Amino acid sequence: MAYVISQKCVGTCDTACVDVCPCDCIVGPVPIGEVRRVPPAGRAAAFPAVQLYIDPDECIDCGACLPECPVDAIAHEADADPDDVERNAGFFAAALRGL
Ligand code: SF4
Repeated sequence: MAYVISQKCVGTCDTACVDVCPCDCIVGPVPIGEVRRVPPAGRAAAFPAVQLYIDPDECIDCGACLPECPVDAIAHEADADPDDVERNAGFFAAALRGL
């Protein structure tokens, strides 16, 4: 089982979760450093529709990221919306295919 990021992340992309993850398994379509160059208040405009994702094959289910998210976008897979689970898995499947 893994943790999953929902679409609540869109428009926020806080990235605090990235710092506490022991596996470096939280990423997004935009490099984290690039996201952080934009102040939090400007991220919704700079990165519309962008969210972070948790690699379900790398997540060790530790829960460290959960309290870090300011918009409660992270949930355990068992409690998450199935669409969010599918979206997270799909992001990494597409990356593996080079898309
Ligand atoms: Fe990383 Fe732990 Fe969150 Fe999984 S549960 S994404 S390993 S911090």
